[in-house]
Amino acid sequence: MKTKERFVWLVCTGCDTPGRSRYTTHKRQKAAYKLEKKKYCKFCRKHALHREKKL
Ligand SMILES: [Zn+2]
Repeated sequence: MKTKERFVWLVCTGCDTPGRSRYTTHKRQKAAYKLEKKKYCKFCRKHALHREKKL
């Protein structure tokens, strides 16, 4: 069975300006959940929660 994947942005939630720190990732097409990952943000200079944002 094929699994379609699509690309999404993970955007830092700690930044004053949303979208400054972005990571690209991918997830399954029909996944209902929102992706949230702790990533290092060079603008916050710490690990911050990055939340999914659609392309
Ligand atoms: Zn940040």
